Amino acid sequence: MKAIVFEEKGRWGLKDVPVPKVGVDEVLIKVDSCGICGTDVHIYEGVFPANFPLIPGHEFAGVVEEVGEGVKDFKIGDRVTVNPNLACEKCRYCRKGQQHLCLLPTRLGVTTDGGFAEYVKAKEVVVYHLPEKLDLELASFAEPLSCCIHGVDLAQIKTGNSVVILGAGPIGLLILQLVRISGADRVVITDTIEKRRKLALQLGANLALDPSQADVEREIENFLRGKAEVVMECVGTLQTEEQSLKLVEPGGTVIWFGVADPKTRVRINPFYIYENEITIKGSFVNPYTMERAIRLLAEGRIRAHELITHRFGLDKFGEAIRAYREDADRVKILIKP
Ligand SMILES: [Zn+2]
Ligand SMILES: [Zn+2]
Repeated sequence: MKAIVFEEKGRWGLKDVPVPKVGVDEVLIKVDSCGICGTDVHIYEGVFPANFPLIPGHEFAGVVEEVGEGVKDFKIGDRVTVNPNLACEKCRYCRKGQQHLCLLPTRLGVTTDGGFAEYVKAKEVVVYHLPEKLDLELASFAEPLSCCIHGVDLAQIKTGNSVVILGAGPIGLLILQLVRISGADRVVITDTIEKRRKLALQLGANLALDPSQADVEREIENFLRGKAEVVMECVGTLQTEEQSLKLVEPGGTVIWFGVADPKTRVRINPFYIYENEITIKGSFVNPYTMERAIRLLAEGRIRAHELITHRFGLDKFGEAIRAYREDADRVKILIKP
């Protein structure tokens, strides 16, 4: 089969590799769509820890091609998506219900082969059936959406809350819709790209600011008549991580969702955090949120089609990477093996 292989940091190729052999409890999936995530690019650049050589891609949906002899709930032809994060079930975190903090996880597309290939295999326990009305392109958003649901859960949004979202990429635009569903009232989003700000306004933002032009802190204070009760950081740069702390009101919560370079160090004013009882939480992957993500997509509560700006075959992966980095109109790029 054809697959994208990251050989090592900064080097990838389109390769002919054997179709994965399914084990007793595994399902082989013919990949229809696999989204490019910031994490894939971070892996390629050597910033995000991963096992090379690697077939990346962890946001995918497809059709079951083959099942292992012990597989009970899936058959050939079933339409499915996958939670790429498989917990060990044995470590102390798994044993206290925090599988996302598992010490020995298997992560498809990160520690083991993922979906930028014609076929990918996964353990039955992490495979999910798709409702009939959910198409395979939309279903490839289930994984990123499930991560966003976890982030919004951690923010504990209350009806009427004011929320600032830093970054209107695919994640910021999914989180925007989720905070709306959760009852947020006034929502401000920031992004340097005009197309994304327009999309954010269509998807429910009240105000979309360009941080390269506007004095974001002042404009937000004017608009909200103060700071925000919740700030969702969805970029992962030093600048936005620090900014998130300046935008939150006393008693408020900041969620760090963006993937920062592990070497980044942020300056924090501990007195401000202390005196104002600011809560800062990291949000990592998607514990127990895949089902909700699939349901919200199937019911049309989350609009994701609007986020797809590019589609490429495996043979055009180089163009896809270029579009990811350089195309100002890029939101979500799908690879269609
Ligand atoms: Zn991702
Ligand atoms: Zn574990």
